[in-house]
Amino acid sequence: MTNIEQIKEALKGVKYPGFSRDIVSFGLVKEVEFEGGDLVVRIEVATKDAKVPQQIFLDCHAVLDGLPGVGTVKVDIEIKDAPELAGGAVGKSSIPGVKRVIVVASGKGGVGKSTVAANLAVALSAKGLKVGLCDCDLYGPSIAQMFGTTERPNANELDEIIPIEAFGLKLMSMGFLLEDKSPVIVRGPMATRYTQQFLRQVAWGELDVLVLDLPPGTGDIQLTIVQTVAVDGAIIVTTPQEVALIDARKAVAMFGKVNVPILGLIENMAWFECDAGKRYYLFGEEGGVREARDMNVPLLARIPIDIPTGRGGDEGRPIALTDPRESKVSAAFHALAAGLKV
Ligand code: ADP
Repeated sequence: MTNIEQIKEALKGVKYPGFSRDIVSFGLVKEVEFEGGDLVVRIEVATKDAKVPQQIFLDCHAVLDGLPGVGTVKVDIEIKDAPELAGGAVGKSSIPGVKRVIVVASGKGGVGKSTVAANLAVALSAKGLKVGLCDCDLYGPSIAQMFGTTERPNANELDEIIPIEAFGLKLMSMGFLLEDKSPVIVRGPMATRYTQQFLRQVAWGELDVLVLDLPPGTGDIQLTIVQTVAVDGAIIVTTPQEVALIDARKAVAMFGKVNVPILGLIENMAWFECDAGKRYYLFGEEGGVREARDMNVPLLARIPIDIPTGRGGDEGRPIALTDPRESKVSAAFHALAAGLKV
């Protein structure tokens, strides 16, 4: 006589078509009812490819039909429409075990996107959340450096990469996988494939929030990322300079096109405050404030240029680890984390 646990165990033998992962660990099996020998399995799958549910249906019957004590088997598959995205419909797959995914993006490089992603992740973790941080920048990964780790990740028996742990966070970066400091020489479709594979093959485990540090810009790789994982919201980092703001606008527009909600804008390098307390607006005053207002998106934080913040990045100790009473920038990141509904 088969019990419900054994039925679930049997369902683990059904792989998602084209993947090595099974439908149970993918979270597709929503309900299993087994009463008086009648078995009903309810499965939910988001895809536009009709072959996927067909194959799952057949494979479920193959493992369930004929189990001892099981009479009728009903496999109910609900097909949820994968969202239509710019550049063609692609089925998004949410990452198993990960409750929310937030991306930190910028139009331009060098505006402090990785610094924000690293410190936001630290501050969210200080809130008591289980946090992961993934550096998706193939060409200029910096998260490894910012957390001062050169450890190489191992793989588990499913051939997934096990993230590195630092300061209570789970970290993954192309930087951990590169042999040396040279950027990966991949372009176009290969870069897209690399990124997808990278995103799908990390064993994050249970996370409340995963922060993705995107590469700068609004090209193919950014689109690939938001099509590969279901993203709950985007934070855009800019400096107050017009050149950065123009690109921040493009980033906001891109996320709009793919239906990713904009959580808000962060104005980084907003000013520099000297010891006497006078503020110098090196890159112009309130550029981010105006931009947020014009685009009708929340302004989440204004972060000044701060020597310990830059140094913290170089030395592998994000400033948000400093007591917020001793650092205004740390306090700003903790306030940002406190205000985010994750
Ligand atoms: P991006 O990810 O946008 O390329 P980074 O986060 O790598 O930018 O930042 C670029 C450089 O500026 C790094 O050396 C970083 O330490 C420094 N930096 C970023 N934000 C600040 C800040 N608020 N104060 C001081 N230095 C900063």
